[in-house]
Amino acid sequence: MEKREFKAESKRLLDLMINSIYTHKEIFLRELISNSSDAIDKIYYKALTDDNIKFNQEDYYIKITPDKENRILTVYDTGIGMTKEELEDNLGTIARSGSFDFKKMNQLKDGYDIIGQFGVGFYSAFMVADTITVITKALGSDTGYKWVSEGAEGYTIEPFDKKEIGTEIIIKLKENTEDENYDEYLEEYKIQNIIKKYSDFVRYPIKMDVTKYKQKEDNEEESEEYIEEETINSMVPIWKKNKSQLTDEDYEKFYKDKHYGFDKPVKHIHIKVEGTIRYNAILYIPENIPFDYYTKEYEKGLELYSNGVLIMDKCSELLPDYFSFVKGMVDSEDLSLNISREMLQHDRQLKFIAKNLKKKIKSELLKLLNNDREKYEKFYDSFGRQLKYGVYSDFGQNKELLQDLLMFHSSKEKKLVTLDEYVERMPEDQKYIYYATGDSVEKIEKLPQTELVLDKGYEILYFTEDVDEFAIKMIMNYKEKEFKSVSSGDLGIETEEDKNKDESKEENNKLFEDMKKVLSNKVKEVRASKRLKNHPVCLANEGEVSIEMEKVLKSMPN
Ligand code: ADP
Ligand code: MG
Repeated sequence: MEKREFKAESKRLLDLMINSIYTHKEIFLRELISNSSDAIDKIYYKALTDDNIKFNQEDYYIKITPDKENRILTVYDTGIGMTKEELEDNLGTIARSGSFDFKKMNQLKDGYDIIGQFGVGFYSAFMVADTITVITKALGSDTGYKWVSEGAEGYTIEPFDKKEIGTEIIIKLKENTEDENYDEYLEEYKIQNIIKKYSDFVRYPIKMDVTKYKQKEDNEEESEEYIEEETINSMVPIWKKNKSQLTDEDYEKFYKDKHYGFDKPVKHIHIKVEGTIRYNAILYIPENIPFDYYTKEYEKGLELYSNGVLIMDKCSELLPDYFSFVKGMVDSEDLSLNISREMLQHDRQLKFIAKNLKKKIKSELLKLLNNDREKYEKFYDSFGRQLKYGVYSDFGQNKELLQDLLMFHSSKEKKLVTLDEYVERMPEDQKYIYYATGDSVEKIEKLPQTELVLDKGYEILYFTEDVDEFAIKMIMNYKEKEFKSVSSGDLGIETEEDKNKDESKEENNKLFEDMKKVLSNKVKEVRASKRLKNHPVCLANEGEVSIEMEKVLKSMPN
């Protein structure tokens, strides 16, 4: 039986693709630049294995040229170029990737720097182009070729006199419509922005002639225009540099350049992982709360790069909610991208990275807590609330991870202390970790319920935020010590002797009965208390829900 292969229905596929897989038209430039970068990589790779080919770094670059008058944008590279066959195979067939074949042929492991793999990126240029002309000359070939296509209708190829090896992609922009202004791709600032956003870390220089101004020598009032060729991209990503080469200022500059925040981060975390899934990450713990942080509008997430090319602005899967304040980026060569490179194929790798980042963030915060208390307190002042929510949410499954990061005001130390510090200095006879709830430290200090506990010389943690007690209920016990509210019925302090003494006082019972009647519906019971010194009465509760929690619960909308 004869076996035939399906031919991609080019025209329909092209329309489909152009209109559906990319959400932002501007990424066409990212795709063309990535192709140029791949083409230069290929020469570089050949030079490694072939002594006849020299690779001088300066000779390899990409140049972008807008021509406003003719509405043409050109992407020029000094890469490996294409032969006539390659033009037909790679640009004539959708979903044919010469780069993928190159990797296979040269047995390059997945994750080698070459970006291309799907064979559709080139066509994304039809989102903005009426006509695309490709002029190219392959390494080792005598003739150049010109390939022209208006998209749907096919293409033409003819020999063309081109001197240097490399490729030039000439895009004739579409006419502007009511909704789309294609002219903006001819504006220097727009092109610069797109390059900075998506291709800042392409390893080869992306050059452009930029218009500049200088003061006229004879007249200081007026300035003069001149053109200068500039390299727009930064090329070497900071995260690929060695930590030892980088200063705090470098990290702070990156934080500012990336607009992660206006503050000065309390800490940066630079991670390099060489394992089954390789990735680099730079994370920041901000100092200040972003203005929209505790609103619905706030979007958590890290920038996600695949091999230096930006894939996603805010990849939320990389951060759990309780670390949603973390800013920064992740770059991995080992992500399975989907065809548009806007989403990820499988999230297995992503989950793996997220899990590692989570552990790393926790351990770095703990380090900060132990080594730079002042900075940690600054951080905690901004985001401690989020950590407590983290303990409380998801049915408490993150409490182990987060409990060591919590701090509460201590009656003894008159400042924030950790649970560990509390438990460490508990006297031997103290059974519980005591806490008191109230609106502020000052108010809690005046609570009658605290008297007995303080009198015993025990420390009390002050819970001043509504989430505190909920979080603690989730933790239940810390280092085998249970938490106890100072307003709970049984404080676990009274001795047996006390109890007997109290119950013998028959004459009180009548009084308590009467009080209960008067306060009916307000109290369940009236009892003699041994916890009071200077106050005549106090409220106490029994069971799981404390008076303060009840207040919070009652104030919540149903
Ligand atoms: P991909 O990059 O995923 O392979 P593209 O549609 O972007 O798919 O490109 C298709 C193929 O065309 C590439 O794999 C490459 O072989 C070839 N190609 C595209 N642009 C260039 C270029 N500037 N120089 C050399 N070859 C190129
Ligand atoms: Mg490509």
